[in-house]
Amino acid sequence: MIDNEKTVERLQEHLRELTVTIGERSVYIPKNLERTAEYIETFYRKIGLPVQRQSYQFHNFTVANIIAEISFSDNPAKHFILGAHYDSVAGTVGADDNASAVAVQLETARALAALKGREKLDVAVKFVSFALEEPPVYGTRHMGSRVYAAKARKTNEQIDGMICLEMVGYACREPGCQSYPFPLMFFGYPEEGNYIGIVGNFSSRTFTNSLFKAFRQNSNLPVIKLSVPMSGYILPSVRLSDHAPFWDKGYAAVMITDTAFFRNPHYHLPSDTMDKLDYDFMAELVRSLVMFFNSHR
Ligand SMILES: [Zn+2]
Repeated sequence: MIDNEKTVERLQEHLRELTVTIGERSVYIPKNLERTAEYIETFYRKIGLPVQRQSYQFHNFTVANIIAEISFSDNPAKHFILGAHYDSVAGTVGADDNASAVAVQLETARALAALKGREKLDVAVKFVSFALEEPPVYGTRHMGSRVYAAKARKTNEQIDGMICLEMVGYACREPGCQSYPFPLMFFGYPEEGNYIGIVGNFSSRTFTNSLFKAFRQNSNLPVIKLSVPMSGYILPSVRLSDHAPFWDKGYAAVMITDTAFFRNPHYHLPSDTMDKLDYDFMAELVRSLVMFFNSHR
């Protein structure tokens, strides 16, 4: 189904473009945000998906969420969003945070586009690349995901589940390299960081479980799920991305993550570069995501 070697190569190409050719994609360098938006748009066009911009104003310049869509039938039962923010925090090229997620998003789109016409799936998937997530925008109404979720609620968009990709490229395999937020370290979670995490809130538990079930079919990528009560307000680190605005608007949403600073020592540092990432790990995540969408028939 998916050629891992080819996927690894393509993921590396995206990382090179986003983190080396473009570099820092912070709110302080609007030109690089625009270049990134164009790169993402061009990619979707190349694989034959319709793409549009959701533009909005941030202080004295315009930014845009990039939205591409694929549907496998005229009236699919389920509508999902696969989202990832494409900005980085200032002072870093943000390889894991969050070029890794954009790369996985793009390659999942390519894999699904290749299935179109060959498989009868009962789904539509929107790929939404969010303009701004990182500080100082984090938590404000200028977050790309907030802009999107607010509009979706207003227009009553059908979203059966939103998947937020947030840092998905870092793995560690020495015992003890993986840490946990209090009080989870007492709950017997793995000490090695070789798995992908799915974080959902209580009202997203059905969606979380269906993803978990699909991901478990991929024996090459261990998966751990975590359901948090109160939409994560009591465990703030689980709210730290683009799924939270969807929770707040009453949509089912999950974050898929390598657990960020609980695993990756380069979090938000200049050392968050593409040579630190595990591309097989990322390719396996593409495969797991395709398995999930593929399970809707
Ligand atoms: Zn991030």
